[in-house]
Amino acid sequence: MTEVPKTSEAVVVGGGPVGLIAAIALSRQGVATTLLAPKPPHPDRRTTALLGSSVDILKDLGIWEAIEAKASPLRKLRLVDGTRRLIRTPEVLFDAGEIGLAAFGYNIPNEELLTVLRAAIPQQQNLRLIGQSATRVEIAQDNARIELSAGVFITAKLIVAADGRNSICRAAAGIRTSKRPLPQFAIALNFTHSRPHNDVSTEFHTDSGPFTLVPMQGQRSSLVWVCKADDAERIRATSDADLALEIETKCHSLLGEVRIEGTRGIFPLGVEIAERFADKRIALAGESGHVIPPIGAQGLNLGIRDADAIARLAGDALRNGSDLGGEAILDAYDVERRADIRARAAAVEILGRSLLTDFLPVHLARGIGLEIASRVPFLRRGLMQSGLGRTANG
Ligand SMILES: Cc1cc2nc3c(=O)[nH]c(=O)nc-3n(C[C@H](O)[C@H](O)[C@H](O)COP(=O)(O)OP(=O)(O)OC[C@H]3O[C@@H](n4cnc5c(N)ncnc54)[C@H](O)[C@@H]3O)c2cc1C
Repeated sequence: MTEVPKTSEAVVVGGGPVGLIAAIALSRQGVATTLLAPKPPHPDRRTTALLGSSVDILKDLGIWEAIEAKASPLRKLRLVDGTRRLIRTPEVLFDAGEIGLAAFGYNIPNEELLTVLRAAIPQQQNLRLIGQSATRVEIAQDNARIELSAGVFITAKLIVAADGRNSICRAAAGIRTSKRPLPQFAIALNFTHSRPHNDVSTEFHTDSGPFTLVPMQGQRSSLVWVCKADDAERIRATSDADLALEIETKCHSLLGEVRIEGTRGIFPLGVEIAERFADKRIALAGESGHVIPPIGAQGLNLGIRDADAIARLAGDALRNGSDLGGEAILDAYDVERRADIRARAAAVEILGRSLLTDFLPVHLARGIGLEIASRVPFLRRGLMQSGLGRTANG
C-alpha cells in the first residue's frame, strides 16, 4: 500500500473521471499532487460523448490516443422531432465536416475511460495515488487538512473537490447549492443492433424528453432515454426482450434488430449548481459543482474544463511563487468557470423543460428556431460549434 504523505501541494479528492483528469493535469503543471481515489462500489455502465474541448485538453495531457482507441466517432448528428405536437420540426442532419471537423465528439464507455485514466496515473511525476476516502476536511488560514482515518491526515494548500454530487469537501467549504429536481428520469443502457450506425448519433425529441442513440465501436450503441417517472417504473420492470422491441419501435427500426447488453441504469434528473465554484482552499470540479441532466452531452465535458482550468491556475501560481489555494487563484477559478457552467446548465434545463410543456408558443419557438438555424448556413455552423467550444463564448 502506498504510504500516505503528511503534506502535498494539492490533494484531489475523488477517483471518478474528473478527479483522475484533474490529478494528471495538476501533476503535468509540476504541482506535487495526491489523489484520493477509493475503489468505486459499482462499475459505471454509462458512456460519455467527449466533445471538441475535452479532446483538446486530453491531447494536451498526452492521453488522447489511448482514449480514442476505445471510442467511436460521432461524425453526424440527426435530430428527429418525435413529438405528437402540432408544430413539428422537419428532420435535421448536421455533418461535422461542415465545420471542418472529423467528428463532433467521441463516445466511450465510462469504464474504458476510467481504465485508460488509471493506467496513466503511474506514468506521472509528482502524483501519488492513495486508494482511500477522505473522511473529514478542516480548513485553516494557511492550509487545509484532510483526514483519511483516525490519526491519518494530509495537509495541503489546495483541495480539488472531485468527490461527486454529495461532496464532503464542498460542505467543508460551506458552499451551498441551488437544487431543482426535474420530473424526469434517464434510462441509460447499451445495445447491439443488426444495422450499422454509420457514426451517426440520432436524437429523437419526444414528449417526455430526448431519446438519444450514440454510436459505440462495432454494431453497438448507447441509449440515453429521458422519460417521465411512471415510464421509468414501467421500464424498470420490463424484460430485456420486450424493452429491445420497444426501443426498436421507438427508433423506427433505424438500427434494425436490437439486443440489450448488460444492465440498465435509471437516474433521477435534476439541476444542482454550486453558488460559488471555489472558496476556502477548495475548488469544486465536476459534479461537486454542477449536476445537469444528460441532454446534449455537457456534464463531464464541463467537468473536464474545470479540471483543466484549476490545473492551469495552480501551475501559474506555483511558477509565480503565490499561494496555490489562496484567494486570488480561487476567485480567478470561480470567475473563469461561472459563465460556462451557468450558460450550459440553463440551456440544458430549457431544452428539457421545453419538451415537457404543453404551451404552444414554446413548441413554435423551438420548431422555428431549429428550422431556421438548420437552413441558414452561418446559424447552422454556429449551432454546431456552440455545443463544442472551450467556453460558452468560444
Ligand atoms: C445517463 C447519463 C449519461 C451521461 N452522458 C454524458 C455524456 O455523454 N457526456 C458528458 O459530458 N456527460 C454525461 N453525463 C454526466 C457525467 O456522467 C458526469 O458529469 C460525470 O460522471 C461526473 O464525474 P465526476 O468525476 O464529477 O463524478 P463521479 O463520477 O460521481 O465521481 C466522484 C468520485 O468521488 C468519489 N468520492 C466520493 N466521496 C469521496 C470521498 N469522501 N473521498 C474520496 N473519494 C470520494 C466516488 O467514489 C467517485 O469515484 C451523463 C450522466 C448521466 C446520468
